Amino acid sequence: MRATMHRALVFVLLLGVAYAKFENYEGTSVYEFSVKNGAEAKLMQQLEKELDLDIWAHPGPSRPGTVLVPKQLKGEFEYKLKFAGIQHKVQVDNIKEYMELEDKLLTSAKSQRANVTAAGLSFDRVYTWEDIDQYLEVLAEAYPDTVTVVNGGSSVERRPMKYLKISTTNFQDKSKPVIYMQSLLHAREWITQAASLYAIHRLVIDVTERDMRNDFDWIIVPVANPDGFVHTHGISGTFRYWRKNRSTDYGLLCMGVDLNRNFDVIFGTGSSDNVCSDTFHGAGPFSEPETQVIRDIIAEHKDRMELFLDIHSFGSWILYGYGNGTLPANALYTHLIGVQMAQAIDAVKKSYNPDYVVGNTALMLYEASGSAADYAISVGVPFSYTYELPGLRFDPGTLFGFLVDPAFIEQAGFETWEGIKVGARYARNSYRARKGLL
Ligand SMILES: [Zn+2]
Repeated sequence: MRATMHRALVFVLLLGVAYAKFENYEGTSVYEFSVKNGAEAKLMQQLEKELDLDIWAHPGPSRPGTVLVPKQLKGEFEYKLKFAGIQHKVQVDNIKEYMELEDKLLTSAKSQRANVTAAGLSFDRVYTWEDIDQYLEVLAEAYPDTVTVVNGGSSVERRPMKYLKISTTNFQDKSKPVIYMQSLLHAREWITQAASLYAIHRLVIDVTERDMRNDFDWIIVPVANPDGFVHTHGISGTFRYWRKNRSTDYGLLCMGVDLNRNFDVIFGTGSSDNVCSDTFHGAGPFSEPETQVIRDIIAEHKDRMELFLDIHSFGSWILYGYGNGTLPANALYTHLIGVQMAQAIDAVKKSYNPDYVVGNTALMLYEASGSAADYAISVGVPFSYTYELPGLRFDPGTLFGFLVDPAFIEQAGFETWEGIKVGARYARNSYRARKGLL
């Protein structure tokens, strides 16, 4: 009798634990909205500040925006949009249900699989920072001729910021361009790790295009914001949508700096000086250890770095600088390569995702300063792009933004790699022409 009661109690407690996740998102809705002109866009920006809303995706030409609205603000939000005549509709009524779904699907994928080995990862789950950190070490040990793991420095919370150097010539052959790639600079953009891990897979374990491995030296930083990423896995899913790093330099009320606004390029012009904002740019350029690590990698390889790729989510965009609308000298060529990359992805994408759109960040979406990709251009890297991977769908017709459908992980890696290959091959030609190697 007592044992039965005990078991029942444990069951109830477990049930309680299972359902206690994501509590702070109960009743939070995802809205889609469209803006017809500059005035409406401005109004949305005001509302974003006023209600402290989390805009997931900014609206672009013929593409709606997406915003997360907590339960208690929905009435006011809807009233204000209606009053201003801004088109909007509820995409997801209660995001908590889908957060639970993501959690359940990823947990069950995890339970079925063996762990991190040199034979490669299975592309059906999101790996933790610890998994990835271990994986980089395992690969460097298993493939010493091509893979080197480097610890570039420490994050705010003292995590090592490790990255891989992949090269058949130990970075000694100056006739090869360097390609730089990073993901998870924004903590909540979990799907982006698939792009880096898939690229590593194709360059090290299952090499299907030999020129990709032989003709380039690769630098891949899978987790550019380790503390933020760890935080998104934290207590009861409360911080699933955390974006910034975990700096405490600005008081404890609000933490963190948007690392993609902290680079030394047009600093502070398209970002926030409010510590609590998701686009807070920090005390000054490179105030954060994570951006310093990336800056130093670029500096070390600048002479040969031909292509810089910063992988984000979401929205199916390939964006290039500058974030204030000024175009780089090679803008036309930059745009054309962007289009070729986009077409390569579109050719193999899932039909329920929209085609990629290519353009300048500010002209397409919004002004953004201090970004990693802009910084790379500013110090002389010829081609630099921010990818925004597709918003994922558990079923067609519903947008899930940052949430990951395990069924899409391998596809995300695969299709993004199709784009990267095209960019890399253009970069190879451009590098050879630039260095007189043709
Ligand atoms: Zn991002």
